[in-house]
Amino acid sequence: MSTDCIFCSIVAGDIPGRIVHEDGEITAFLDANPLAPGHTLVVPDEHTRRLNDLPDDTARELYEAVHALVPAIESAVDADATTVAVNNGEAAGQEVPHVHWHVVPRSADDGGGPIHGAFGDRPDLADDELDGIADRIRDAR
Ligand code: AMP
Ligand code: ZN
Repeated sequence: MSTDCIFCSIVAGDIPGRIVHEDGEITAFLDANPLAPGHTLVVPDEHTRRLNDLPDDTARELYEAVHALVPAIESAVDADATTVAVNNGEAAGQEVPHVHWHVVPRSADDGGGPIHGAFGDRPDLADDELDGIADRIRDAR
């Protein structure tokens, strides 16, 4: 646990949170400044800054919790869909340095648009650049 982490404090019960799931490894609670009713955050109990830093078994448990919560959240707030996303690192907009999936209920007329709206102009990549990127990702695995 990190003593100055707000999500660690919620997991530990030291500050209040509207908990919707806890199993000793993973905790989910309502976002305090929701983008939509039912906006939920799903976190590993162990303080971990980024997805990259999660042990494999915790990553699996985290995604299993997301997978179970998505239909429950949609049902609870009568949503048509959800946006499920991680701001993974400060440069990607992560403000709380404790890994968290956002599950944001959506409806066709909520005006929110797809996740692509978070980006500006798309890069114009040639085939050889795309081939090189794919090669480097495969090599880095
Ligand atoms: P991110 O920008 O991905 O790090 O998102 C952090 C999220 O944490 C934001 O959506 C905040 O509204 C939410 N948040 C911050 N403090 C609290 C809190 N005490 N309880 C619940 N959600 C919080
Ligand atoms: Zn933490």
